Amino acid sequence: MYKEEKIKNKDSLLLVLITVFISVGLIFFLQNIVMALDTEDLFRASVFERRVALNSWQSDESGNYYYKKMRKLVGWQEVDGFWHHFDETGLMSAGWLDDKEERYYLSPEDGGRVEGWQKIDDKDYYFDPEKGSLITSQWLTQDDRRYYMTADGNPAKNLHSVDGTEYYFDEITGEYLLDASKPVLALTFDDGPVENTSKLLDVLDKNSIKATFFLQGKNIHGNEEVLKRMNKGGHTIANHSYNHPDFTELSEEDIRWQIEETDRLIFDATGRKTFFFRSPYGSTNERVESLLAKPTILWNVDSGDWSGSSVDEICDMLLDTAEDGTIVLMHDTYSSTVSAIDKVVPLLKKRDFQFVNMDMLFKVKRQTPELDGVYYHLN
Ligand SMILES: [Zn+2]
Repeated sequence: MYKEEKIKNKDSLLLVLITVFISVGLIFFLQNIVMALDTEDLFRASVFERRVALNSWQSDESGNYYYKKMRKLVGWQEVDGFWHHFDETGLMSAGWLDDKEERYYLSPEDGGRVEGWQKIDDKDYYFDPEKGSLITSQWLTQDDRRYYMTADGNPAKNLHSVDGTEYYFDEITGEYLLDASKPVLALTFDDGPVENTSKLLDVLDKNSIKATFFLQGKNIHGNEEVLKRMNKGGHTIANHSYNHPDFTELSEEDIRWQIEETDRLIFDATGRKTFFFRSPYGSTNERVESLLAKPTILWNVDSGDWSGSSVDEICDMLLDTAEDGTIVLMHDTYSSTVSAIDKVVPLLKKRDFQFVNMDMLFKVKRQTPELDGVYYHLN
């Protein structure tokens, strides 16, 4: 009886041990299945790999890797909301990457794929905001501004040819400015700044055009904000003397004072020096020109706004005489001028005219203004 019980106990112990053994094995097995779900190298995973956390960055002397469920990610992968690229060994890519005829840039710091505008090695690039690919050899519109992205991926600047047509782009931002194959016209406004000047600036803004203002120094005090606005709006600010004397009747000393005092006032308001000059009444001679150290800008179309012309008469004058390279004389001191500009600019735009300030007129005509030169129009 005693012996029999002993044997029974022995059997029970064996049974318990077997059950425990099988259970532990089963738990290990199930745990591995859970950990390595979706992976076929469940049984090949090394002890080290099993210890790697389920989703984590790892690095060695070659670089960075990302482990997901015990496997290194390869190819394009989204990690923590950012796109990354890993080569076939799982090594994270950084810097420029060419892939399937597209170029990408991966942040050297964290490997994240960049999107939108980026400055890389001091050059501007634009990457597709969704796909991350570099935009090349195509037009790009951003915030109402147009750019042409060259084959290198940088915005074209200055004069640049696209499909055989030459276009002009801002030399700093690359913003599209004009089509060099179409006519340009320079509107110039004399004698301000006055109260009316702000209304004219409103109309120029409304039509998205730039012009040139020849200012009298005596009018600047109290109108500094108007000057700042002109400057910010991309208009050319130029010198029209301090108080409008006939320069051919002035002494050398008076000519210098008229120019320098006006330049000083403009500089104080805008932080910029003027380059161009227009002589009051268009009155000039070789002696005056040699003393100025500024190109003299006159005109080949007189709008007649100063002579009491009506809005329609001013418009007709411009429509009848506008040609490529024309410089138009106008005055921001008349309200009829403001109305005429508002009316005539859309009509001239329909005839492909593009409105430029004096700086741009010289650039697009590829001419260098001479300091003792006199210009009536540019072709
Ligand atoms: Zn004047």
